[in-house]
Amino acid sequence: MLALAGIPLGLSFRFLDPSSDACAADVGELVVAPYDDPDGLERLADGAAAVTYEFENVPVAAGERVGTIPGIRSLEEGQDRLREKELFRSLGIPTARFGSLAETGVPALVKTRRLGYDGKGQRRVDDARAPLDDGELAEELVHFDRELSIIGVRGIDGEMRFWPVGENVHRDGILRVTRAPADARQGDAERICAAVLESLGHVGVLAVELFDVGGRLLANELAPRVHNTGHWTIDGAETSQFENHVRAILGLPLGSTAATGRCVMVNLIGAIPPLRELLTLPGAHVHLYGKEPRAGRKVGHVTLVDPDEAIADRLVALAG
Ligand code: AMP
Repeated sequence: MLALAGIPLGLSFRFLDPSSDACAADVGELVVAPYDDPDGLERLADGAAAVTYEFENVPVAAGERVGTIPGIRSLEEGQDRLREKELFRSLGIPTARFGSLAETGVPALVKTRRLGYDGKGQRRVDDARAPLDDGELAEELVHFDRELSIIGVRGIDGEMRFWPVGENVHRDGILRVTRAPADARQGDAERICAAVLESLGHVGVLAVELFDVGGRLLANELAPRVHNTGHWTIDGAETSQFENHVRAILGLPLGSTAATGRCVMVNLIGAIPPLRELLTLPGAHVHLYGKEPRAGRKVGHVTLVDPDEAIADRLVALAG
């Protein structure tokens, strides 16, 4: 999606992915190698104006070797849930209680500090004496009213822009639907995102996932990259998160982050409904990733801008 946004700007792309069937091969040159392979990294960076990441579990040493933008500070913080939470705390951003079960109380969610995503590596614990593994972190179970996310972009010169807050619905820990702009605390969310962007000296796009608890925002997680809850911006914002990320890392002027309408973005998870049926929905913007469907895997998304509610409901039902 970064390449799809950058190609119209006259740019070309090369990708590093350990998998030979990475869908990025459709839109640029694919280097197939492990993320920490020195030859692969050299081939990736050869002649490039900038090297970036859209997945925060790239080894820090690899990011360092090729000089990624955003820099490795963002990678380091974004890879470790405990460090993320400590960063929020150091910036005065409220979070759920976290640490040991003695600190959070029960019920709690126990999460792996590293490599957890889409609800993977999470379990609920009701016994305060349950042992935690080394790489685990307990979090107070939050009874939120809704989940929100704020996505911002920071340029090389420090200019920041923010897309309207999205409201997100998850199922089994996986994002299912984002509605944006959400009727939400835009100013508070922007202050949180701005504090994180500035403290990391981040250049590019960054997302913060939030819980809305009675109008008070708690930060759950940061993602130092383009984010699934910002996919609606491709079809529903003046400038998408992908285009602004590319602009930011190349030192180009940032574009407007204004929404062009009320968007509903629905993820296709585990299976692709018949294309003919998706395209029958008036105004459907269909994005299929060319990935082999398997349970729990995001294989595409569809965005509607200013849809009738009945059409939005039909899309949600079709997506299953
Ligand atoms: P995460 O991997 O931290 O983004 O968690 C995935 C999903 O699990 C979130 O989007 C929430 O729906 C849920 N979740 C995560 N942490 C908590 C928490 N502390 N309390 C309640 N629900 C949570």
